[in-house]
Amino acid sequence: MFGDSAYPWNRRQFLGAVLGTSTAVFGLMAPERVLAARAVSAVAVTRQPDYTRYVFEMNGPVDYSSFMLEHPSRFVLDLTQTTLAARDIPPAPSQSVVKEVRSGIREGTGLRLVFDLKAPVKPRLLLLPPSDGLGYRLVVDLPHDKAAQLVAEHREDPESRPAVQKRASAFRDLVIAIDPGHGGKDPGAIGHRGTKEKHIALDIGRRLRDLVAATPGLRPVMTRDSDKFIHLRGRTAIARNAKADLFISVHSDAFRVTSARGASVFCLSQHGATSEAARWLANRENEADFVGGASIADHDQDVASVLLDLSQTKTLENSLDFGNRVLRQIGDVSDLHSRRVQQAGFVVLKSPDIPSILVESAFISNPEEEARLRTPKYQNEIARSIVQGINTYYAAKAPEGTRYAML
Ligand SMILES: [Zn+2]
Repeated sequence: MFGDSAYPWNRRQFLGAVLGTSTAVFGLMAPERVLAARAVSAVAVTRQPDYTRYVFEMNGPVDYSSFMLEHPSRFVLDLTQTTLAARDIPPAPSQSVVKEVRSGIREGTGLRLVFDLKAPVKPRLLLLPPSDGLGYRLVVDLPHDKAAQLVAEHREDPESRPAVQKRASAFRDLVIAIDPGHGGKDPGAIGHRGTKEKHIALDIGRRLRDLVAATPGLRPVMTRDSDKFIHLRGRTAIARNAKADLFISVHSDAFRVTSARGASVFCLSQHGATSEAARWLANRENEADFVGGASIADHDQDVASVLLDLSQTKTLENSLDFGNRVLRQIGDVSDLHSRRVQQAGFVVLKSPDIPSILVESAFISNPEEEARLRTPKYQNEIARSIVQGINTYYAAKAPEGTRYAML
């Protein structure tokens, strides 16, 4: 991912590299004029909160020029002596100012890229020198001006005006499933002072619920909000029925040695995912099971298996990303039992299409941590860390159509 931190120079220099209408060979590059044949070997696109970023991987430095055209808005980027070797240009992310990018050959040997836009923008261009094992990259950032974008959408089709307005107010909240571990006849682990894990988990879960509810664009759903017993599969079913976007199970750890200490975060293991896939595919009579937007029952076994695998891979990747973000936040308020997200076959983490983590808030078997776990202060710190983890996760990739993405 190309965050701003990927830039080897400072912000001012970056902002200085603003679109001009004339040919630009960047001052930061080697001074010799570059005319050797170049190729764009790969194109990546990411939607950041404030702009859409295209990264063109090059086999060397390149001469380029750019300009804007209006009615309709287009951004044109010409690369001298360059061919497009990349197999394709990825489609523009939704809710981007970019509609589409087209490519063509210019003057026989040049590459012309035309960005069809929803509104006029001032793109920022930057040629990155090789670093971190990567070659030259031409970065094109197209800022989103949300107001201008909406106006442009209205203009394109006056008929659609009411629909657009309706859609804007119909953006959905992201649903955060909160699963306080254990409950009822299952007390979970019990500390030396008699503290029961099920009570701590519910206390932290409720604090987390309140923080989530107070965050615009997020909506909490609890798997339990009282001291009752729920089967593990029942917990994931509650999350599925609520169409949860994330699933967070809250526990506290126990070990026979009282010195074990620190918080940890778990995601599903690959083995757990594989065995779950087999289970899903074996239960195909359950036609209500949708994975990755496709009904498993609608496909033959091979296709269903691939769809499920793709969905699980993506979900696990997202779970690890989310888990790492939460772990980093918890590391600011607590000792960590492990500095890495751990992976295990926990049943509650097995939803193939809901990124899921399990937070062990501390060791209830450690007398010192047991005492901390009982304090509102520590319970709040853990809950706040999880919410901060959610926020950094969605700051990077709030799904389209959600209120969170529009905020
Ligand atoms: Zn537990």
